[in-house]
Amino acid sequence: EENVTLKPANSSKIYMADLESSLHYSLRVEVARYSTLEGERLAALRGYINVLQKYFPARPMLRTMLNYLGDWLSKRETDSISYEDFANVLNNKDNDKDAVLAPHVNYVWCQGSKPEYRGFPCTVWTLFHLLTVQALEHKTSNSDPQEVLQVMRKYVRFFFGCRACAGEFEKMASESMHTIRDHDEAIKWLWSRHNRVNKRLAGNNEEDPEFPKIQWPSKELCPNCRRKVLNDEIWDVPNVLRFLKQRFSVSNISFKYLE
Ligand code: FAD
Repeated sequence: EENVTLKPANSSKIYMADLESSLHYSLRVEVARYSTLEGERLAALRGYINVLQKYFPARPMLRTMLNYLGDWLSKRETDSISYEDFANVLNNKDNDKDAVLAPHVNYVWCQGSKPEYRGFPCTVWTLFHLLTVQALEHKTSNSDPQEVLQVMRKYVRFFFGCRACAGEFEKMASESMHTIRDHDEAIKWLWSRHNRVNKRLAGNNEEDPEFPKIQWPSKELCPNCRRKVLNDEIWDVPNVLRFLKQRFSVSNISFKYLE
């Protein structure tokens, strides 16, 4: 149980290295657990790739790969594909271009103080928040405000390795996800549900002591996200929403530590 040397990270940024690590791990490890993809699980994968294709602010090589993968999936009308075929497309076996996704994870903000802490689940939250905000940025007159949330719900249900987490997330989703009417509500829904999870997990023995679970964002990170009403402190929700849109904007992504 060695402590690791943490890469210095700026808490007000999000890191492309974390986001690409999320894609690498989800597509090469989580999806790879199923040698045959079919039925609802295949539909969940198609949805995930489609949302990434539309809203993930990918670097050019990765963008090309996501488009290629999306086209390949949409051309396959069969209700069953092998992970091997999917991986061949993912890894660009047909041509000898460089690999577009690093062959290993490279966590920055999501790096834990020990290898068993943080990492992938932290990148999944980061990716999900980013996608809810990017869906707003790309919104059209007929875009569905629940699209990203329903896709991540299915991703979690069919692929997320932590099955207890998936059960808890599905519970929250089935309670209220269907009530979301616009993109702002979708962004706020994910923020408040993530805080519910933080509250439930605060102080448990899997928490990284260097990164305690808090009701996020902290006062330091966003001084005007809370306000006082008599003796209580409550969220200033419009300011929280502004903060989330800024935090998960393309211009707030750091490209540091990418190989
Ligand atoms: P994380 O909670 O992973 O958050 C990552 C980063 O997001 C934080 O460092 C912070 O910068 C930012 N952040 C924090 N809160 C918010 C917020 N409210 N809105 C926006 N950004 C925020 N673990 C369990 O033990 N039980 C569970 O039931 C469980 N359910 C999960 C469900 C999902 C969908 C996911 C993705 C993960 C779940 N996990 C669960 C894992 C757990 O939530 C953490 O991801 C993990 O413990 C790592 O924590 P972390 O300190 O890196 O912060």
